[in-house]
Amino acid sequence: MKVIKTISEMRRWRRANRGTVALVPTMGFLHEGHLSLIRKAKSHAQQTVVSIYVNPTQFAPGEDLDKYPRDIERDEALCRAEGVDVVFYPSNEEMYPAGHKTYVVTEDLSGILCGKSRPTHFRGVTTIVAKLFNIVQPDSAVFGQKDAQQALIINRMNEDLNFGVHIIIASIVRETDGLAMSSRNKYLSGQHRTEAAVLYQSLQMARREFESGKRDFETLKNKMQRHILHNSSAKIDYIEYRDAETLAPVQTDTKKILFLLAAYFGKTRLIDNIILK
Ligand code: AMP
Repeated sequence: MKVIKTISEMRRWRRANRGTVALVPTMGFLHEGHLSLIRKAKSHAQQTVVSIYVNPTQFAPGEDLDKYPRDIERDEALCRAEGVDVVFYPSNEEMYPAGHKTYVVTEDLSGILCGKSRPTHFRGVTTIVAKLFNIVQPDSAVFGQKDAQQALIINRMNEDLNFGVHIIIASIVRETDGLAMSSRNKYLSGQHRTEAAVLYQSLQMARREFESGKRDFETLKNKMQRHILHNSSAKIDYIEYRDAETLAPVQTDTKKILFLLAAYFGKTRLIDNIILK
């Protein structure tokens, strides 16, 4: 496995490797969720590149950029054990040299849901993913359903800017109590970690009600909200239901419904979602 730190070397590697390449963009501190993406990437291409980069432009001032967990040695060992071909691990100077002025914005989609409380977040995500696509030139790229809005925005950007990358979305990997795995779970205190299971429980309530034929999503949303508030100290950022393909409001003929939520446990913001169809 090669660890590449510069854009020029990454480009040289890509030019020398003409086979298919799958890219897995991550911010590191890898867990089983990331590893599931890597395994998917390996099944889709001859070579797998994992990028590890805590992207400053997707954090707003006051967010957790400085304390975001990092452990590059452990990440490299995990990537090596999975048979990854290249870890791309660039510095901030490499990715955003002085004078950087250009951003990629996917309009509308980036201003709703998570974009309401994090107005510059998705601009940072689309910018860094566009840069990674240009640098690595992958045939396919794997993202997690855990970040459902991100996955839809990247799909849109990929279409709109004609990157021609095959976007693969991998299912959410969960802890045994249902909490979606996340590098940020590390921040949770013991009590918050236990309480955080309410998020998945509330999504499971949605699934049960949907499967029993109920379609009053507003009532369901209130029920989920009550479950979270009665059983934890969480502050809910939002609970919403949208068309799973477009994030448009649900209509009577909507086929796949995405229930998404975000909540704070102390200062830690967690997100989760479920698709009902
Ligand atoms: P991150 O390092 O948190 O930016 O995540 C990198 C990629 O891994 C993103 O595409 C995430 O959606 C995906 N991911 C993170 N957590 C999970 C999980 N629990 N299950 C599946 N994919 C995940």
